[in-house]
Amino acid sequence: MNAAFLFDESFKNHACQHYHPERPERLDAVVEGLEKSKAWGPAYRVEPRPANDGELERVHDPGYVETTKKTLENRSGGNLDPDTFFSEGTRHAALCAAGGGIDLVTAVHERKAEWGWAIVRPPGHHASISAPGGFCIFNNIAVAAASLLAREDVERVAIFDWDVHHGNGTQDQFWDNPDLLFMSMHQWPHYPGSGLSDQIGGSQARGKTVNFPFPAGMRDGDFLAVIDDVLTPMLGSFRPDHILVSAGFDTHRNDPLSGMEATSECFGRMAARIKGLADEICKGRLTLFLEGGYDLDALTSSASFVVRGIDGTLEDHSITRESTPSSAGSEIIKSTLNEVVPHWPDIF
Ligand SMILES: [Zn+2]
Repeated sequence: MNAAFLFDESFKNHACQHYHPERPERLDAVVEGLEKSKAWGPAYRVEPRPANDGELERVHDPGYVETTKKTLENRSGGNLDPDTFFSEGTRHAALCAAGGGIDLVTAVHERKAEWGWAIVRPPGHHASISAPGGFCIFNNIAVAAASLLAREDVERVAIFDWDVHHGNGTQDQFWDNPDLLFMSMHQWPHYPGSGLSDQIGGSQARGKTVNFPFPAGMRDGDFLAVIDDVLTPMLGSFRPDHILVSAGFDTHRNDPLSGMEATSECFGRMAARIKGLADEICKGRLTLFLEGGYDLDALTSSASFVVRGIDGTLEDHSITRESTPSSAGSEIIKSTLNEVVPHWPDIF
């Protein structure tokens, strides 16, 4: 079965008047990678459509939805906060990134496609309950996850966030929800500053938020160790009906905004592992949402590797120097496990 993609040229109409790293060309770079991987042509296409207020209000405050939509009607553009710009095309793009994301995960749920990828802008994972942030306006992946949890035939959803920044918006929105497992690995200290190991969820959902605040310089082996040593056993126990990924590519070694050392191949290897888990646990249901990633060549090559990882054409290379975790990475993984282990008594 083919992939499903949510992409539309209108997502490029969200554009800053001055140079900004979160720029329309990022989408073309991802699409180029998908074309190279041959996944693009035969894919199932999800048409973008605006999310309605009820769909947004599953994770956003109604007052935030109302005032933000009103602000975005200003055609001359501006800023929602110092980092987060908007332009004439933003209102449509932001609403369609969220609404199209719902239809994408629904298509994956209904088996219209084997897996999905929302290639959208603006990104979403820093958009919190009642605030924009870090180039994000509405939290696309959270809106989609909440739409799945609203279904009678879905009980649990997992979100894995491999963007180099902590997914603070998603964490806040599901902080006390035991049906959503949120795991984020990110550079720390770095924007937005949250995501320490002891942030593990509210009283109803202790251990369902899992954070890896890695120092700069982490390599492939550190990221893969999180998947092998923590995500894999947790998903085996949590048994989600869907796995969603906040797929940011600013963890890449060439990214201009961050200091990590992930290779393009690392994204493919992470995707391969997560698709394997989805196949084992939730009928293969896996959907990626584009978040950050600001080096265009890195976006292209990483996107191509992701598809090869998911469709099984990425060779499982022998263990390289970068495939084992560093001592600094292992320390962080250990500290996080110390925090969450009491809440996962059956697996650790
Ligand atoms: Zn990011």
